[in-house]
Amino acid sequence: MAGKFFFIDTTRCTACRGCQIACKQYKKHSVSKTKQYGTYQNPIDLDANTFRLVRFSEHPSKVNSMVWYFFSEACRHCLKPGCQKKVEQIKKDAIIINDFGAVLYTDKMQGLEKSSKAIKQACPWSIPNWSKKEKQMVKCNMCYDRVEAGLLPACAKACPTGAINFGDEAEMKKLANECLAAAKKKFGGKGEILDSEDVRVLYLIIDEQAKYRPVA
Ligand code: SF4
Ligand code: SF4
Repeated sequence: MAGKFFFIDTTRCTACRGCQIACKQYKKHSVSKTKQYGTYQNPIDLDANTFRLVRFSEHPSKVNSMVWYFFSEACRHCLKPGCQKKVEQIKKDAIIINDFGAVLYTDKMQGLEKSSKAIKQACPWSIPNWSKKEKQMVKCNMCYDRVEAGLLPACAKACPTGAINFGDEAEMKKLANECLAAAKKKFGGKGEILDSEDVRVLYLIIDEQAKYRPVA
C-alpha cells in the first residue's frame, strides 16, 4: 500500500470539532474532565481519551482587532519518530511503522510508566500520553484498521469543510501545493506548509502564530 498522508488546511477549519468528536466516537473514548481557562478550547490538552484536539489561539491583528486560529492537532506520524528512537533504547520493536507509514504503539509498550515522561518529551509536539486503563502510552494510530479496509480515518471522514484530507502521498502533496498557492493569493503572500520533509501530516498555516499553543 502506498504511503498515506494527511493534509490539513487550517484556513478552512471552523473549529466545529467534528474531527475531535469523530475520533472519540470511533475510539470509544469518554469525555475528559476540563475547566474554563479563558478560551473555547476544550479539553486543555491531548490526553489518554483525546487523540485529536482542535487548539484555539487568539492574537492581536493590524487589520482586524484580533485573529482567531484553529489547529486540529494529533500525532504527525513522523518519518523518523522521536518517540520511537527513545523507546528503542528501552524496549526493542515496541513502536512499529506499518506499510503505509502509520506509527503504531504495540502492546510491548505496556509497563513503561516510569519512562512515560521521557517518551512524551522525545516527541517534538508532546503528543503521547500515559493511559492508566491500557497501562501504556497512547496516541492517534492513523485509524490504520479503517485505512486497511479502504475507509478514511474517522476524523477526515467527519470534517465538513475540507480542512482535513487524507490519501496517497502524491495526491496529498499536490493538494497541499495547490492550497498553498491559493492561500498566498488570498492572504497577501502569507502561507507555509509545516515540517513537510519530516512528517506525514502536512499543515498549511498562514501565520507563524497559528502553530503556537495557547498558554493554558
Ligand atoms: S508526532 Fe510525536 S508521537 Fe507522533 S510519531 Fe512523531 S514523535 Fe511519535
Ligand atoms: S486518524 Fe483516527 S485515531 Fe488519529 S486522530 Fe483521526 S480519528 Fe483519531
